[in-house]
Amino acid sequence: MSSTNPAPEAERRLRRVGVLGAGQLGLMLGLAGRPLGLEFVFVDPAAEPPAKSVGEHLALDYGSPAALEKLASCEVVTYEFENVEVDAVRAVSNLTRVYPPASALAVAQDRLYEKSCFAELGIPTAPFFDVASHDDLKRAIGEIGYPAVLKTRRFGYDGRGQAVLQTADDAERAYAELGKVPLLLEGFVPFERELSLIGARSASGDVRFYPLVENHHREGILRLTLAPAPNVTPDRQAMAEGYMRAIFERLDYVGVLALELFQAGGRLVANEMAPRVHNSGHLTLEAARTSQFEQHLRAVLDLPLGSTELIEPSAMLNCIGSLPAPAAVLAVTDAHLHDYGKAPRAGRKVGHVTVRAPTVELLAERLATLRPMIESAP
Ligand code: AMP
Repeated sequence: MSSTNPAPEAERRLRRVGVLGAGQLGLMLGLAGRPLGLEFVFVDPAAEPPAKSVGEHLALDYGSPAALEKLASCEVVTYEFENVEVDAVRAVSNLTRVYPPASALAVAQDRLYEKSCFAELGIPTAPFFDVASHDDLKRAIGEIGYPAVLKTRRFGYDGRGQAVLQTADDAERAYAELGKVPLLLEGFVPFERELSLIGARSASGDVRFYPLVENHHREGILRLTLAPAPNVTPDRQAMAEGYMRAIFERLDYVGVLALELFQAGGRLVANEMAPRVHNSGHLTLEAARTSQFEQHLRAVLDLPLGSTELIEPSAMLNCIGSLPAPAAVLAVTDAHLHDYGKAPRAGRKVGHVTVRAPTVELLAERLATLRPMIESAP
């Protein structure tokens, strides 16, 4: 036999990764995984989700027997959507490895457990109270006062399922609207800006963090991310990383984690975490040595983690509702368009644009050219 014989079939087989959810995060995970020789199975009840083009798609409920059978054949299963039922994730965990672990998902998808976890770890949060009844709400307002923020414990996203309370009338109105499900009342944090930290921990405990980024929201939806966040001292970066390290250890975490923080009076106050790749990390595709998507795959497959260094100052603009004209975006130097292939709809994230520049001044100029195209898209 010659030494150039192909490797046996078993060695050449692609490594299969299962993903619960097949939205744009799944699409970008799939795109990042192909060069690593990975193939993907996505489970998502939607008929035509964005990730369908980068792997096999099962249009099934997450915990259905046929989905479980297929996922059992995967080397590792992860998720790109944190509102997957924890029981479905536990069922998959009985069949193959699942990262991040189901126990971390259970904490991250309930604002009460999440904030309690931060508080136990000494991570600053807004004051918070569980609101299971109208009496609880009155007691919590008595403790916190106004302004306060009433939020559903679960299933809130993009500013939905929450209300800022300035008066007793606001409280009654918000309770009438939200009070059919368990709630949390939080103190309003008079923050100077919103930051997020994205980090990763691999199955063997290797840890990496990206530089803090600055996030701008409108109507509860992320519109703009700047990387690195301007004027972050090494101490502040280290403080955020310390918080995330503590969370990693407490939750025995594996994968990419995003931690959303308010900067308020020199403090970093934790708002929430997402146990997955995150919208504020999309710019790592072009702006960092290793994207958050590749990093997540490396982490869950226990491969060496990659450099999180930023190549240049950069920004990400979300395309909400509709996409700008591609040719206009791509005419801007170092601008990159990501079209998720979703039907246009008000309030829906249908794509994003990343732009890089060698200096922050030049980045501001490029952003000033791009913003009107994106904000005025039909
Ligand atoms: P969330 O769904 O918790 O990420 O909240 C969505 C947005 O509402 C945040 O990005 C903040 O802009 C704002 N927000 C949430 N909670 C608070 C709070 N306790 N104090 C001030 N603003 C808040």
